[in-house]
Amino acid sequence: MSIETGLPAGFNPSAYNAIIVGAGYAGSVCARRLAESCNYKVAILERRPHIAGNAYDYYDEAGVLVHKYGPHIYHTTNDRVDQFLSRFTEWSNYNHKVLANIHGTLIPVPFNHQSLKLVFGEDKGERLYQKLVSTFGQDKKVPIMQLREKNDPELEEVANFVYENVFLHYTMKQWGKTPDQIDPAVMGRVPVFVGDDDRYFPQAPHQGMPAESYTKLFENMLNHDLIDVFLGVEARDVMQVTDTKVSVCGKPYGGEVIYTGALDELFNFDLGALPYRTVDMVFETLPVDHFQPVGTVNYTVSENFTRITEFKNMTGQELPGKTTIMREYSRTYLPGVGETPYYVINEPENIALYKKYRERVSGLLNFHTVGRLAEYRYYDMDGVTASALELSDELIAQR
Ligand code: FAD
Ligand code: UDP
Repeated sequence: MSIETGLPAGFNPSAYNAIIVGAGYAGSVCARRLAESCNYKVAILERRPHIAGNAYDYYDEAGVLVHKYGPHIYHTTNDRVDQFLSRFTEWSNYNHKVLANIHGTLIPVPFNHQSLKLVFGEDKGERLYQKLVSTFGQDKKVPIMQLREKNDPELEEVANFVYENVFLHYTMKQWGKTPDQIDPAVMGRVPVFVGDDDRYFPQAPHQGMPAESYTKLFENMLNHDLIDVFLGVEARDVMQVTDTKVSVCGKPYGGEVIYTGALDELFNFDLGALPYRTVDMVFETLPVDHFQPVGTVNYTVSENFTRITEFKNMTGQELPGKTTIMREYSRTYLPGVGETPYYVINEPENIALYKKYRERVSGLLNFHTVGRLAEYRYYDMDGVTASALELSDELIAQR
């Protein structure tokens, strides 16, 4: 493997069997698989000065390992994804826990057995919990929008409390919309949990943090003789895509192209910009051992940021006397000015626009789109990895 900055003079695209745009999960998983299963020589073009995409982590000036693009916690139910990624890292046994700050009281989220008792008191909380168990079953995940549909005064009381104190204001901050105005699947990511598991990802069989770091995981994944990574390279400067061919450095390119960036950007937004939410991430280092009791505290009824993450609580890093925290401020993404499009907005008109862009490349047999941006999907790391494994399966099968 080589990682260098910029394209060398005389860079020859035809020396590579595949050119991949983006060194995040989507691009790096495909690169590794094509290199080791097909003996393909692979070039990755990455415009940022680092690998690992949005999972990139680094040591800040205080010496704290932080996540530049938001808190990343690995969790999956997908054994194949877990086996693949576990080739490149050991995992800590970290179990992510989140508390909601509700008017100064910290309540576990997803809202669970313990949350019920904290909010409604021991006896009433237990009674409400038993009602949830008899209605939905033990250890079940119930989306808040589903709970709100139950026609029962006691369940209604729970639903109203959770809706108002956990979801409504946080969702307004995150999406600029109320929960009933957004894709139900988004709310379903954080259900009410009818059980005692107080982890943010209850029942996920694989969860943790890379023992060393995400960046190290990527270094290991990309560490293959046939993979060259070129950082600081904007692919659109060297790649032209029309509906009949892909050219790289001015010449038609016949190898495989895997594109993990945004499709509207590739076409200069000529059909219109795909909407996203972006997040301003504000880091602060404090002269204390610890700032808060868990990895993340969600501010569900107050403040104009959504959540505060304390990285040491997630990585387990021992560093006395200082800690770094980060607040997230969500807002509308402005296209074309270098902002990061963090969250897709899964609404029918946006999906329709995405499909029009996708249609333009559907005739290009050597041009493939994969990843959170290129598929315009709200993927977690495991979902992106699964998608990249599938695409690389297809390419390996047809080589
Ligand atoms: P990316 O990581 O975005 O990688 C795409 C890469 O392509 C980028 O490095 C980009 O610079 C590069 N690129 C794009 N266009 C070009 C171009 N034209 N030229 C050159 N390079 C280009 N998932 C979890 O599983 N757990 C979590 O806790 C979690 N937390 C998250 C928190 C936040 C705030 C966000 C936004 C996401 C979180 N995720 C989490 C999701 C996770 O970040 C993504 O699923 C994953 O990083 C997507 O990988 P990707 O390769 O598709 O995209
Ligand atoms: N959500 C909320 N309150 C919470 C946690 C989540 O309203 O305390 C809603 C919110 O709309 C959020 C969505 O559930 O965008 C998904 O939350 P998740 O934590 O999965 O979001 P991510 O980590 O991807 O930002």
